[in-house]
Amino acid sequence: MNPDYPYTRFAPSPTGYLHRGHILSALWVYACAKKFGYKVRLRIEDHDKSRARPEYIDSIREDLEWLGFSWDAESIQSSHEERFEKALELLKEKGLVYSCNCSRKFTFENNPVNGEGEIIYQGLCRERNLPFSRENAIRFKISDKTVEWDDLRLGHFAERPAEQCGDFALRDRTGLWTYQFAVAVDDFEEKVGLVVRGEDLRNSTARQIELSEALGRAQRPLFLHHPLITDTTGKKLSKRKKSTSIRGEKQTGKKAEEIIGEVCFEAGISKKQEQLSINNAISLLVTQLTPKF
Ligand code: GLU
Repeated sequence: MNPDYPYTRFAPSPTGYLHRGHILSALWVYACAKKFGYKVRLRIEDHDKSRARPEYIDSIREDLEWLGFSWDAESIQSSHEERFEKALELLKEKGLVYSCNCSRKFTFENNPVNGEGEIIYQGLCRERNLPFSRENAIRFKISDKTVEWDDLRLGHFAERPAEQCGDFALRDRTGLWTYQFAVAVDDFEEKVGLVVRGEDLRNSTARQIELSEALGRAQRPLFLHHPLITDTTGKKLSKRKKSTSIRGEKQTGKKAEEIIGEVCFEAGISKKQEQLSINNAISLLVTQLTPKF
């Protein structure tokens, strides 16, 4: 554990109720915290105010407590406005951001997309010197550099964010902070030394490393991206697709230990179908963690 960055975090977005995919993610976070000696922060990622709902925020805490999780610190991104503004000011002073007035439609029509359907913004507004007005997005000037980083589970990566996403947005045209920006600022400010999250976010890592270094972060976090649970059709469980929620399962009379046991079995953490308390599930996963470095 790095004493300057003693936290890892579980960072759900309150855009739906928690489902089994979240339990798996939380198990990985807590198992890594235990194995490597980090404290756990619950961070509610409600930067996307168009999709976050207060009832989901309350349900995150309630469902986690019902499952048996407890945490050392808690924060919510909607109270980080000042922190985000300050970080943006710093990037402005360094000349690392610019204003962009490309509409969503125009952006899609005039830029390539990567394998995940994400825009690779080609810097159309980079030299236009548009004013930093509220109607414009703010983009980060990505470098040409290759970012080399190591994942505790997946090993070494050498990636060029310029090819993965180009100049990505930090704030969108509706004034909302983006996931990439909010997470890089918060992981730095909240002394996160270990980032544990699903493999679906692995492509965000190189750009977040470059952004946090631009923000002045001298020591990178360690990263571990865990496998995801898929549904019967092989698709990742997602709140948006209305996967069964934890509270839905609870209402049918299921016990927390039954759900946790089933998640561990589905994810291959447990070899037999058995009920598991949260602590036993965490301990079981800890025995299976064999970091690559
Ligand atoms: N808020 C993100 C999610 O719910 C996780 C962000 C992260 O762990 O970096 O998928």
